[in-house]
Amino acid sequence: MDAITNQPLKILLLGGTSEAVIAARHLATMPGIAATLSLAGRTNKAAPGPLPVRIGGFGGIAGLVDYLMRETIDVVLDATHPFAAQISGNAIAACAEANVPLLSIERAPWKSISGDDWREHRDIEAAIAALPDAPQTVFSAFGRSSIPKLTAKPQHRYVIRVVDPVDLPSELTRATVITARGPFRTDDDIALFREHRVAAVLAKNSGGDAAYSKIEAARRLHLPVYIVARAPIANRQSVATVSDALSWIAHHQASRAAERGV
Ligand code: NAP
Repeated sequence: MDAITNQPLKILLLGGTSEAVIAARHLATMPGIAATLSLAGRTNKAAPGPLPVRIGGFGGIAGLVDYLMRETIDVVLDATHPFAAQISGNAIAACAEANVPLLSIERAPWKSISGDDWREHRDIEAAIAALPDAPQTVFSAFGRSSIPKLTAKPQHRYVIRVVDPVDLPSELTRATVITARGPFRTDDDIALFREHRVAAVLAKNSGGDAAYSKIEAARRLHLPVYIVARAPIANRQSVATVSDALSWIAHHQASRAAERGV
């Protein structure tokens, strides 16, 4: 084998999700792989993992192209959250420009079932605007960056679940902030909703298991869920599971070895 065929497959894993954590665990044990996990750095305590980690934005599409070229990345695995549309769009554009294959892991959205009372909206602003005018207690799982948007309906008492502590806008002084990291359990969310007398739930249609408990709790307590549908991201190859992504990587590795006559 010459020096080139000995090179490991260099993977940039865009993370920030439970899928990325699982993919990192597998990639760390796969022979012939050198993967780096990239995190935006939004949360204070990223759990330690088995891969080298880089933290912080790349500086838009141009910054990501520079990174891919500088680090001679062979493939990019986008395991970011389905609502992290900016980084996913940047990855599509940068990989096209740098001619680097890209695969995204896109978990299926939740589907409403019998007993759900979903009010679907195209974005967070529309979901908040649709809340009733009469004051009530509203549970928000919209995340930290959406907190200022809740001031559009300041009459409600919000129970806001986020990963790290936050400073609230002055209009929301009656809000309760709960800092917690998923996965969450349905029974715990039922208890939480009962304790705070939650009358409505704000949620993104994130899909997956880790955050589904609030949807199930709302169903069991007959609460309406103001749910934001995800915008489709075009022009990319995607799979629904980590296991399919790992097969794609293995296939990619095998084709590269075949091309190089290993
Ligand atoms: P976003 O709006 O799509 O991205 C905003 C900017 O943050 C990107 O342009 C990029 O900066 C940087 N960035 C995002 N993800 C990155 C990554 N994995 N590595 C390096 N830079 C990254 O993202 P967001 O919605 O703020 O989410 C931030 C992170 O939290 C994502 O990694 C996502 O997986 C995770 N997350 C998001 C949600 C959600 O609901 N949005 C929920 C759970 C977890 P540059 O342009 O400078 O490169």
